[in-house]
Amino acid sequence: MKRAMSDATTGGQAAGRVAIVTGGARGIGAATARRLGADGLAVAVLDLNEEACAPVVGDIAAAGGRALAVGCDVSDETSVTAAVARVDAGLGAATVLVNNAGITRDNPLFKMSVDDWDAVLAVHLRGAFLMTKTVQAAMVQAHWGRIVNISSISAQGNRGQANYAAAKSGLQGFTKTVALELAKFGVTANVVAPGWIATEMTRATAERMGVPFEEFQAQTTGSVPMKRWGTPEEIAAAVSYFARDDAGFVTGQVLYVAGGPAD
Ligand code: NDP
Repeated sequence: MKRAMSDATTGGQAAGRVAIVTGGARGIGAATARRLGADGLAVAVLDLNEEACAPVVGDIAAAGGRALAVGCDVSDETSVTAAVARVDAGLGAATVLVNNAGITRDNPLFKMSVDDWDAVLAVHLRGAFLMTKTVQAAMVQAHWGRIVNISSISAQGNRGQANYAAAKSGLQGFTKTVALELAKFGVTANVVAPGWIATEMTRATAERMGVPFEEFQAQTTGSVPMKRWGTPEEIAAAVSYFARDDAGFVTGQVLYVAGGPAD
């Protein structure tokens, strides 16, 4: 098992470690994978479609890093087990895990189907559970680990998102529990909870509402104290902090990255 270089040689970064980023083919996951690659970690980019991970893997390699594309459905136990085994064989045991994969199936409660409910909870909650349960074994063995779960400002409630809000606030309770259970093994678990970020996910939301994306951004910006949306890179920077070697005493925390206070 790879041990990290000392703080003195890494400046506190977890360089030399292996990270897994789920939903890493695009959006926040892609920015996070690139950022961790730039921080000196080897990065496994997991997504439903393995081919879609290739550009991100290419970017990391072009910048001198190591990366691997792995197809994985995080809501499927067999797929998760196989994907983590491939990361193990291809890059080494992962001791940094970013549970980022996500979907939305928005609808007001009275219109929300059971399938909409189940699909969202399966990816966000079951997915984070399966990935974390599988990967934590190597973290415990290494006596070092960093788990970062991507929640959302919607965890505090958002019209049309009963499923997503439940999943994203559930993720916060899950993270705090994992933090308690794994603290004695040198493993931290934290949450980054973004506000509005321009990605395919929010583009699709605008489309579903029949509003041009720029107009949708303008309409929602008013509620953001900073009067702008965030970027995937700004979320990646927060994840990068929690993954650092010298963030090892910070655990069970929820960091809202939302252009203003959120709770
Ligand atoms: P995107 O939709 O752009 O990217 C999500 C990625 O996750 C896609 O590549 C998608 O693959 C992948 N994915 C979906 N289901 C699975 C699965 N079962 N297994 C593996 N991968 C899967 O979303 P964002 O980058 O915007 O969001 C990333 C995370 O950040 C999500 O958890 C989201 O809820 C959260 N978030 C986003 C905010 C925003 O404003 N954008 C705000 C707050 C939180 P495919 O394309 O094939 O479906």
